[in-house]
Amino acid sequence: MQREHTKPQIKTVFFKHDYYAAWCLKVVNSLLNKLDFKFVKCDKLQDADIVVEFRSNDDIVKSLGSEFDGLSAASLRGTSRFIYFNKERFINPPRHFPNKVLYRRYLVRHEFIHTLGVPHRAANGGKCSIMTHQTKLEDNCLPNDEFIPGDIEFIRNNIN
Ligand SMILES: [Zn+2]
Repeated sequence: MQREHTKPQIKTVFFKHDYYAAWCLKVVNSLLNKLDFKFVKCDKLQDADIVVEFRSNDDIVKSLGSEFDGLSAASLRGTSRFIYFNKERFINPPRHFPNKVLYRRYLVRHEFIHTLGVPHRAANGGKCSIMTHQTKLEDNCLPNDEFIPGDIEFIRNNIN
């Protein structure tokens, strides 16, 4: 079935803290250019489609509940889209990731794509999808920060 809006309508990002802002955008946009799309940084909160914040695990649990213990979070739709990156997790990636950089690249890409309305994608065998939940890895797949076959279609079909 054809959908009318396969291109995201949101693109401006306000970072509450400037650290990692440039790095995050570079990592995200270098993947999303395969969808002919990019996020841009904005300097005023009121101009933002998405607000990005690094929060302590305690603050995330307090605001979102214990099911987010150890996790980062993104709101998928609505007018107040946000990403909370979990500071402790950013510093100490889950053990099943071979290195910190791979985890951070996966996490940043995954959460930004969530803000477009895209849900999780199940995986079984081989590399995980960028939209597989890889922090708590319950699927049988290998940690991965790139698109696997079908990811681009999956994202296009779920943008919202
Ligand atoms: Zn997720």
